[in-house]
Amino acid sequence: MIVIVAAAGDTSLEAEITTIESGTQSAMRSAAELSGPEQQHYPYARRVRHGWHMDTAGAWAYESLDDHLWEVFCQQCGDTNGPAEDQQPPARRLRGPYRSKHDAQHASNKHFAAP
Ligand SMILES: [Zn+2]
Repeated sequence: MIVIVAAAGDTSLEAEITTIESGTQSAMRSAAELSGPEQQHYPYARRVRHGWHMDTAGAWAYESLDDHLWEVFCQQCGDTNGPAEDQQPPARRLRGPYRSKHDAQHASNKHFAAP
């Protein structure tokens, strides 16, 4: 908590204090929103996968990794793995694909900060 002692009658400093406090409140609010178990997202960047198929155990498997394209996977957005085109719009949008690992990681970090 930042404490600023202002001289009485200094309105410009009072206005500044108000701005700081409302900023602190919104930061605290978003921290509280992120702490809920349903709201926490764990996205990660990975190479785009090709040749999706079900393995003998019924889990998604793939043949190869793309040499150039990256995607972001977030199970909490409802991504069920497998082909991107099978996903619901929020998960499909997050998949990208992205043209570099850097772009995908950037999207992943942004998504983690504000789901
Ligand atoms: Zn998500």
